[in-house]
Amino acid sequence: MFEITKTDLDGRIGKIDCDNGSIETPTLLPVIHPVNQIVNIKTINEIGFSAVMTNAYITLKNYGEEAIEKGIHKIINFEGPIMTDSGGYQVLEYGKVDAEPIQMAKFQESIKTNFANVLDHPTSLKDSVTNAKQGVNETLSACEQTLENISRKSIWIGPVQGGKYLDLVEFSAKKIAKMNFDMYALGSPTEIMESYNYKLLAKMIITAKKYLPVEKPLHLFGLGHPLPLSLAVALGCDTFDSASYILYAKDGRYFTDMGTKKIDELDYLPCVCKICVEHTVKEIKSLAKIEKTRTIAIHNLYMLWKEIQSTKLAIKEGRLWEYIGNRTRIHPKLWDSFIHLSENEFLFENKNPRFKKKGIFFSTFPDNRRPEVLMVNNKIKNFLMQNKNKIIIILPLTQRRYSLYNNRLLKKLNEINIEALIGYIIPPFGFIPYQLTDIYPISQMEISENMHNESNTIKQTIEFIDQQFKIIKPKHIYLVTDESSETEITKFIINRYSPKKILKNTEEITKEIFDI
Ligand SMILES: [Zn+2]
Repeated sequence: MFEITKTDLDGRIGKIDCDNGSIETPTLLPVIHPVNQIVNIKTINEIGFSAVMTNAYITLKNYGEEAIEKGIHKIINFEGPIMTDSGGYQVLEYGKVDAEPIQMAKFQESIKTNFANVLDHPTSLKDSVTNAKQGVNETLSACEQTLENISRKSIWIGPVQGGKYLDLVEFSAKKIAKMNFDMYALGSPTEIMESYNYKLLAKMIITAKKYLPVEKPLHLFGLGHPLPLSLAVALGCDTFDSASYILYAKDGRYFTDMGTKKIDELDYLPCVCKICVEHTVKEIKSLAKIEKTRTIAIHNLYMLWKEIQSTKLAIKEGRLWEYIGNRTRIHPKLWDSFIHLSENEFLFENKNPRFKKKGIFFSTFPDNRRPEVLMVNNKIKNFLMQNKNKIIIILPLTQRRYSLYNNRLLKKLNEINIEALIGYIIPPFGFIPYQLTDIYPISQMEISENMHNESNTIKQTIEFIDQQFKIIKPKHIYLVTDESSETEITKFIINRYSPKKILKNTEEITKEIFDI
């Protein structure tokens, strides 16, 4: 059902097949109101959205038997894949609904929904721990009742709840993971998004993801803003649904790459979507209420679709780290969530591709904590284990080139049969023997000069050098310097390791070694 074709960090490009077609993930399903839909569903489809979300509870209350006779696709006039919410959102809004889990499960299958949800009890940000626990238990009970009463015509989604109580999220995820669902979902970030608590959102996803089967898709309920979307994808979410495009539009709020703006306060339209090309900002401001809502909503949908496409491209090119680094810069609280995931150094371990077609970038903190750094550090350590008790010769980087093959120094050392480890100090990796300089990503990286002076990177580089030299237990250290070596890290090596000689060029070092 779910085929993964490309991964980067915990993000993946995949394909989910269902009776009404297939969906390429990551993707977002715009929420369609079954009775009162303001933006034409055909327009939504033309923007690029191939699947939509609608509400089975509202459908039941408004159409009843008619929905069963016609099916949900005819009711909302859409032939592609449809996911239905079961009324859980109404539980979150109004406390309860006038329906039972088994009733909603059977109804969803009878209206031929492609992706069905359990009538769950979402955890609200305002819930006390007691209420949250009760909600999680009610959700688990609803899941059991649902699974016992369905005929598996739809793709069934198991909801993880618990909200800000991460131990409850863990409990819920462990239980749901054992149930036979086709797909999983995490609720409910809507309120968390409104309070800009993106770090909590990241923690919730990381917690749930840890216990859910990695081979099944994960849906994130209600994340409808372009800004945190790529971050959620990088943490392993595959599908999203959102009514925000229309809810924001009703309030005159217009998505931009820099966050949401009030249309009435805008002097320019920073967008080239169909809407923004065909209208001036003045025209949109002066539209009648309903038309204004529709117009802004369509623009908001274009922005969401652009974000989905950009995120997919970033995964494809192996640049998801760079991409979320850029996106999260927009808001300090988003940036905090990026720093949080960079601090979880084992988060992406063994999940990141071992090789990427494109080189990787190191511009500033926290790029020193990208998952590739851990991978390279392990490779260096393994290499050093086989090369203990040698002389270390540290060379300066000459115009960022570090290939030593066919080098005169190397020939000389071979002639006189001196066993030396020759390498470079490259932040944030520490000491890199020349033999490892042509492996990925060292052979294909761009490092900003800033990384040599950035305090977090210096600290990490020094830690790595200490670990590496502890393995080598060097007999002597020779340090060759030039003007590029006047860095904090070089000063550290001189102070901590007292090199036998500090030399100005490689000619000098061969003379030194002859004298040994
Ligand atoms: Zn636009």
